[in-house]
Amino acid sequence: MQKLRLFTPGPTMVPENVLLEMARPMEHHRTAWYRDLHKELCELLRYVFQTQATCLTFTGSGTSAMEAAIVGCCPQGHKSLVVVNGKFAERWVQVCAAFAIDHTSLDVEWGHGAGVADISKAMDADPKIDTVVVVHSETSTTALTDVEAIARLTRERGALLIVDGITAVGALPVRMDDWGVDVYVTGSQKALMLPPGLGFAAVNDRAWERIDSGRTPTLYNDLKAYRKSLETFDAPYTPAVSLMRAALCALRSIKDRTLESIWQETTMLARATRAAVVAMGLKVYAADPVDSVTAIMVPSGVDEAALRKTMRSRHGFQIAGGQGKLKGNIIRFSHMGYVDAFDTLGAIAALEITLKGLGFDIEIGIGVTAAQRVFAEAME
Ligand SMILES: *Cc1c(COP(=O)(O)O)cnc(C)c1O
Repeated sequence: MQKLRLFTPGPTMVPENVLLEMARPMEHHRTAWYRDLHKELCELLRYVFQTQATCLTFTGSGTSAMEAAIVGCCPQGHKSLVVVNGKFAERWVQVCAAFAIDHTSLDVEWGHGAGVADISKAMDADPKIDTVVVVHSETSTTALTDVEAIARLTRERGALLIVDGITAVGALPVRMDDWGVDVYVTGSQKALMLPPGLGFAAVNDRAWERIDSGRTPTLYNDLKAYRKSLETFDAPYTPAVSLMRAALCALRSIKDRTLESIWQETTMLARATRAAVVAMGLKVYAADPVDSVTAIMVPSGVDEAALRKTMRSRHGFQIAGGQGKLKGNIIRFSHMGYVDAFDTLGAIAALEITLKGLGFDIEIGIGVTAAQRVFAEAME
């Protein structure tokens, strides 16, 4: 027998009660039933973003919320600075380019988070910059950015801060209002343990002021249209009813578990995985590693494609490889959503067996033991 265990940093594993919720009979969306559902979902979204800001749900993957955010917040006459430290940060630049948004990018070495000093310098050099975009958890490189510190800077300078929280919200501490972030976005298929298909954006009053100050070339992902519909807890177009239903179910269970305990558990999974990596004689890729996903460097002499293929076909573990220039050089394991210590021990055990089979010199059990020790201590 072999079970599929999804360890990719999106989509992630979805709990059975959430899956079953999507199989229930279809309901119509222009109804009190839908408005009640949507209203409760908004409250729960405010909880996961830790905000009193407006929470909007888009039909589309995470990119739909990214596009809505930057297009809405950067009408003509405004300029954004995008900190580029990986593939997802590059996507923000692509959105800017596609919509002819005035922008400049600040390249940061991959594996590192965005630094306050660099952003400050870039803003000094170009006074037109009044919007900053950073990726909280750069999933492609697994680098963490200190959003709180950057928000302090953008507040001081009166710039808007847009944060891609797609593998942060629901996994890592996110305190939108305390920190002073203006727009946070996320997607359904990462830490929120839902299937792909929903994008979420939390938008504060400072951001709305900007959004209302200009016209922007958009229709389907228009923040203003979503805000208008939200007055009655409706959606501008037919929403993904089954996914909305699943979202309510998943977010209720997140609230029941509490964010604090989820943040702690995510950290424990990441710490155990990193301990296993070191014990196995491997290396963690990121210089500023994030806790929602771990990238491990593929040791020289090991074929990355064969490694991932064996993990999947022999042992049932679907893991991720590298993207862009990291393709072939790293493998990534998610710590988000519906995953626990014992799933993670299994993944490490499978990795050990796979590496040995591919000729890597490893003492079987050494990584598992290191991880298990971390779990045992944390569970005391
Ligand atoms: C997954 C991801 C996205 C984009 O997601 P899609 O859902 O594929 O559109 C953007 N940013 C980060 C950091 C991500 O992890």
